[in-house]
Amino acid sequence: MLHNEPKIRAQAAIAMGGNVGDVQRTFKRALSRLDKHAEITLLRRSDWIETAAVGGPPGQPDFVNGAIVVETTLSPGALFEVLQGVETHFGRERSAEQHWGPRTLDLDLLLFGDQSMDEEHLTVPHARLAQRRFVLQPLEQVAPDWKVPGLGATVAELLRRLPAECSL
Ligand code: ATP
Ligand code: CA
Ligand code: CA
Repeated sequence: MLHNEPKIRAQAAIAMGGNVGDVQRTFKRALSRLDKHAEITLLRRSDWIETAAVGGPPGQPDFVNGAIVVETTLSPGALFEVLQGVETHFGRERSAEQHWGPRTLDLDLLLFGDQSMDEEHLTVPHARLAQRRFVLQPLEQVAPDWKVPGLGATVAELLRRLPAECSL
């Protein structure tokens, strides 16, 4: 057993969303928490954009959305577990939630290098990435030329292809 094998470094793109509490403050604290992880380095972050909630229960507050790119030596599954831990730390209570309803912090794993996977709890690239302006718009700021596995198009191309009326 070799103990000094170099770990593989990959870049991952993560979507951030929230519409409960001081979301910008939550985002800032969540980023610093992620960056403090020994195997995660924050490389870039988008602007925070405000978007009307799409789907979910009527009348819920607007969302703040953003995207970040990190470098990590974790596997996709391990990174996803860290993201879920950070959501929970900032008050996310999955058991009390409605589908697409209000939440303090949502962290979705959008892209992980050029990898694709479809497991029970983790699909990468994120299944609804290409249909969502509120995801593609901030993602374009941090990863315009990232070729999305399985779709054969870059993030910037996917955003351009999105019909004007489509925001889901
Ligand atoms: P959406 O996935 O449509 O954005 P959501 O973020 O509101 O919806 P959640 O309740 O946060 O949905 O998560 C639903 C499930 O999605 C989780 O149990 C998680 O296991 C699964 N999931 C699958 N792939 C991913 C991914 N790439 N990133 C985050 N969650 C994922
Ligand atoms: Ca989501
Ligand atoms: Ca989610």
